[in-house]
Amino acid sequence: MKKAKIIKFGSPLMIVEEDEPTKIPYNYAKVKIVANGICGTDVKLAYGEGLRPNLPLVPGHEPAGIVIDMNTEEKEFLEIKGKQVVIYPHLSCGNCENCITGKENICLNIKGSLGINVDGALQEYIVLPLRNLIPLPSNVGIEEGALAGGVVSVPLHGIREIGDLVGKYVLVIGTGGLAFAAIQILKYGGAYVVTAGRKPEKLQIALNLGSDAIIDTNEDYISKARALTPLGKGFDAVIDLAGSSIEVLRSIKTLKRGGLFIMIGYSAEQLNLDYSKIVLDGIKIFGSRSYTRKDLKDSLKLISEGKVKPLITERFGLYDINKAISLVKEGKSVGRIIIRIDKSN
Ligand SMILES: [Zn+2]
Ligand SMILES: [Zn+2]
Repeated sequence: MKKAKIIKFGSPLMIVEEDEPTKIPYNYAKVKIVANGICGTDVKLAYGEGLRPNLPLVPGHEPAGIVIDMNTEEKEFLEIKGKQVVIYPHLSCGNCENCITGKENICLNIKGSLGINVDGALQEYIVLPLRNLIPLPSNVGIEEGALAGGVVSVPLHGIREIGDLVGKYVLVIGTGGLAFAAIQILKYGGAYVVTAGRKPEKLQIALNLGSDAIIDTNEDYISKARALTPLGKGFDAVIDLAGSSIEVLRSIKTLKRGGLFIMIGYSAEQLNLDYSKIVLDGIKIFGSRSYTRKDLKDSLKLISEGKVKPLITERFGLYDINKAISLVKEGKSVGRIIIRIDKSN
């Protein structure tokens, strides 16, 4: 079977031919991967910027596929044989205090995350624990299903921290696939949404998706953004999806006293935060790591009900993986790029 591998940071990924997996441990399944989304994390991995796993590594952490074989007698799993599934990428332990309370995204004994530090989905077949496989609703296509995790669940996990969204003022920093999903989730929940970014064509998409106002980050926008909130008191929450320290330091100044700063984007940079302002204004900071199984199931429901639509702008076969990574690196892709593992180009 074919797989894409990062052999050396900064070098093109290689497509190699290896044997298909044959052993399936108890409560595991063999999945034929069909589609996988490519995002900025794959760029970080390919270039070793901020993420430097042991190499070689098969990337791919936004996958969906078809269960072709399994080894189980558990009733709850038997019914997914032959079904289309989205793959939950974190190999959590299931027993620690975080796993037990539904926070398996920050499992204390995590064995790894697919495509991040263990081999992921840019290969034709993979053997995985059955509990990592979530069946797709019948009206959700396999490409949208692949993006339920990496595109919809990631912002959903952070947004949940806000609580009831009705009437809340939320500033979204960024105009990529995660921001576009965040806008749709926030609008569905009843929030007033302002989107900040530097590319006019992407800000226009934010407006089309329901953002109530937009902010151009090429300008000094702090007072302009605050003026959009009731009595200029500031936002209830800021969601940073851009992962730029400059933008974090600016946008945190748009928060209301007691406001919530949700960090989803990240980079290898250090943050030089205004220490006293954080304390004296009672600012809360939430580092929102990835998502839980519940987030993934809820995201599939949002997609299935038409409340959120992940934006797919390009599709490539596995042999074009380097083209896909370049497009993301250069910021040339408006929505998500899907790699179709079942197609060669
Ligand atoms: Zn991703
Ligand atoms: Zn755990």
